Amino acid sequence: MKKIRSAIINDKRHRIVWRKLGREKADGLAWPDICQIEIEERLNPIDAFDTLIHEYLHRALPDIEEDKVYKMANEITNMLDKADLIKR
Ligand SMILES: [Zn+2]
Repeated sequence: MKKIRSAIINDKRHRIVWRKLGREKADGLAWPDICQIEIEERLNPIDAFDTLIHEYLHRALPDIEEDKVYKMANEITNMLDKADLIKR
C-alpha cells in the first residue's frame, strides 16, 4: 500500500496526512476548511481503503449523513475486495 499525500476531491486538491489518531478515537478525519483528510497510519490496507473512501465521501457529498457514508464506504470496499482489486 502506498500512502498517498494528496488527492483531488470535487476538483480541489486535498492534503492527506497519515498519523496516529489514538487521541481522536477515529480512523479518519475530514477538515473541509483546509481541504485536508487525516488517516490513522496503523490501519491495514483494507481498513485504510475503507477509511479513505469514507473521508472522500464526506468531502465529495457533504450533505450525506454519517451512517450512509459508513455504509457506502463499506459496500464499495467489500465489492472491490471481493474482486481482488485492493492490494494487501
Ligand atoms: Zn464519518
